[in-house]
Amino acid sequence: MNHPENDPQYAGLTVNEGVASPPVINPYLQARKRRQTLSPADYVEQIRKGNITVLSQAVTLVESQNGEHQTIAQEVIEKCLPYSGQSVRIGITGVPGAGKSTSIDAFGMHLIEQRNKRLAVLAIDPSSERSKGSILGDKTRMEELSRRKEAFIRPSPSAGSLGGVARKTRETIILCEAAGFDTIFVETVGVGQSETAVHSMVDFFLLIQLAGTGDELQGIKRGIMEMADGIVVNKADGENIQRAQLAAAQYRNALHLFPIPPSGWTPKVMTYSGYFKLGIREIWDMVFEYIAFTKTNGYFDERRNAQSKYWMYESINEQLRNRFYQSPAITEILPLKEQQVLRAEISSFAAAKQLLDLYFNQQ
Ligand code: GDP
Repeated sequence: MNHPENDPQYAGLTVNEGVASPPVINPYLQARKRRQTLSPADYVEQIRKGNITVLSQAVTLVESQNGEHQTIAQEVIEKCLPYSGQSVRIGITGVPGAGKSTSIDAFGMHLIEQRNKRLAVLAIDPSSERSKGSILGDKTRMEELSRRKEAFIRPSPSAGSLGGVARKTRETIILCEAAGFDTIFVETVGVGQSETAVHSMVDFFLLIQLAGTGDELQGIKRGIMEMADGIVVNKADGENIQRAQLAAAQYRNALHLFPIPPSGWTPKVMTYSGYFKLGIREIWDMVFEYIAFTKTNGYFDERRNAQSKYWMYESINEQLRNRFYQSPAITEILPLKEQQVLRAEISSFAAAKQLLDLYFNQQ
């Protein structure tokens, strides 16, 4: 039970340095020699057969900014929609260093080996856009999982706004489900707004916490705890077990102060060790208990319907915004209006109105 972090000298949280996307090491994902152009129907056929090379290419189209790629991607998504929706979607969040990669590796192996599942691991990483370095990029840490053909691991799409990245991930979920993955993980870092985006696309939201660091240090805000359907305190091993149990008790107390969530499910708090694979089964018993509970009381479908509605509006907002900012008339005059606002020649609101009028009048 001697993990380096259990050494009293260990400085607590470590933030892993950003890395470039690692090479794909899944041996089942063979590089294609020559890229053939597939029709949308071909994509769908291959995806349905569980061809992960083609699935991977389709996801690349979804992520592409290129208009032609987007057209094909949208057609593929539409054709995959009837085959989607059958999975259990799980959001996983926690600060860097909480043990997300290690845990996902352990969770994934448990689901594959003990529960006969096929798992897709997707990510939404707000850091990759800004710094080009990715907090969640080091996927090679999911060593066991990345060698299994029952697992499909895809790093976060990096280009675009959080809304855009989240939409791509949601569309990727549809493709993965059509390819027969029955469990979808969407991983994110618990430091920004990305949890809200992930929460709005999953059935169960799992928050990975650590013992021994105050909430502030962990950067976990009350809002994130309120979103969680389960809180799991990681690294409950060696010297750390008692501290983890104490932290779990504190989280349990804190949760009592929150109103009962609309699911009717009182979030559970558990301790486990991702590294030593202790307490993993109990976590998944809990997740499946939640799924059965919410399917029985109708909340499962209610939440998915609410999410579909949410994404329709998000998609409208995103596209309106993109078209506005990409419109040549707007890009031409925008810097001038900005200057006028800065020089206090016109008010922000007047400038916005002029620009919007210009945009909508040319439609
Ligand atoms: P992430 O940044 O949230 O993905 O965290 P990682 O999975 O990369 O883990 C960060 C560090 O915590 C690594 O050094 C892991 O070996 C360590 N770690 C992860 N899980 C455990 C655990 O269950 N017990 C202990 N003691 N260390 C762990």
